[in-house]
Amino acid sequence: MEDVIIVGAGPAGSTAARLLAERGHKVHLFDAQRFPRIKPCGGAVTARALSLLPAGYQSQLLGHPDAWTFQGRNLPPVTVRRTRPYCHIVERQHFDSWLVDRAIAAGARFSDGRTVDAIAETRDGVVVHAGSDTCQARYLVAADGAKGISARTLPIPRLRPGAAIEVEVPVSEPIYALWHQRVEIDVSHYPWGYAWVIPRYPVLNIGVGSFRAATLPLKNLFAAYVTSKLGSGLPADAPARAHPLPFRTHLPRLHTSRTLFVGDAAGLMDAFSAEGIFSALWSARLAAEVLHGTLAEDRDGLPAYSSRVRNEMWPNLAPALKMARLFYPLSGFWSRFFVRNQSLLHDYLDVAEGRQTYRELLAHTERALLPRVTLHPSK
Ligand SMILES: Cc1cc2nc3c(=O)[nH]c(=O)nc-3n(C[C@H](O)[C@H](O)[C@H](O)COP(=O)(O)OP(=O)(O)OC[C@H]3O[C@@H](n4cnc5c(N)ncnc54)[C@H](O)[C@@H]3O)c2cc1C
Repeated sequence: MEDVIIVGAGPAGSTAARLLAERGHKVHLFDAQRFPRIKPCGGAVTARALSLLPAGYQSQLLGHPDAWTFQGRNLPPVTVRRTRPYCHIVERQHFDSWLVDRAIAAGARFSDGRTVDAIAETRDGVVVHAGSDTCQARYLVAADGAKGISARTLPIPRLRPGAAIEVEVPVSEPIYALWHQRVEIDVSHYPWGYAWVIPRYPVLNIGVGSFRAATLPLKNLFAAYVTSKLGSGLPADAPARAHPLPFRTHLPRLHTSRTLFVGDAAGLMDAFSAEGIFSALWSARLAAEVLHGTLAEDRDGLPAYSSRVRNEMWPNLAPALKMARLFYPLSGFWSRFFVRNQSLLHDYLDVAEGRQTYRELLAHTERALLPRVTLHPSK
């Protein structure tokens, strides 16, 4: 019998596994795929997320963008430059494997290529089936991402899925130089979303995502964007990959009787920027702290996890949702407004750096717009 089974070894699952193993708990981490595995992702880790990574993370940071290009509708692109990087670029395949290795080094057991196909909660614990194997634990961490089995099996309210398509294209030096240490975001033609270019030498990660993708011709928008950036269509040897963007408009409880939901499985993505790694790491840390207390004191402490997400993470995620609801329906208007008030573009990068909150960004936007209109989310 394990103390904790963790389903899914993305940043959320491996972080929870490491932190629990470091505290001396018996942890078994499962992933359906063989590692290193591909995860569709721009690989941009915001500066605010770095403090949640284990020691030695610097070896994983392959780029350090300090320039940001914002492309609005019918406007020339605007590039703002910073004195320091606001995000860092990782290669998800290697980054996720490295995080798993940290968990293994801390004492966690890792089984990859093992799809969890059934989960049952009992009075004393959980029973998990992976093929012909059965494994039991006192608690479960559901870290199986946007398409996992946990949220379909256990009683947790459904999340809202947007979607994104991306491709990684190796490019020539002269083309790469155009994006060196510069992320480009284009909101001109992408309802409830944006297109992006994220550089990771010698590759450009190019994608299009929307929080309301179901009603959009996302593939066509993606193909047109790739062509506009590369001057040619999608290279035959660079496969495009699609993946959901899971977010929530309301925060439900994220625990059941024996399980805590973390990361994308919990729907904790930033609903404005689609940043998910930060929430994955943060929620995993909260889950590990709560489970440590619960296991150490042998008490039913799981509700504390939902409370901590509500008190510590939601005050950050709810204003991001508010920002999305404000920005995306009128992105043409807001693009012009942000381009005219470029300090707001810097404010947004301050949020990525953790030097400012979305709540402050909303307040600054409000001050720049109409002094009497309140854009703050109600408490
Ligand atoms: C195209 C795209 C670009 C993105 N770009 C960025 C970005 O630049 N920066 C950023 O911060 N966020 C980005 N995100 C979001 C980010 O990728 C996710 O929020 C993040 O990966 C969530 O981590 P996680 O550990 O919760 O889930 P995941 O990383 O999705 O890991 C879940 C794991 O669970 C495993 N799994 C699933 N089902 C089972 C099962 N039944 N049994 C066992 N294992 C299972 C999967 O194999 C997977 O390894 C992007 C998302 C998309 C789609």
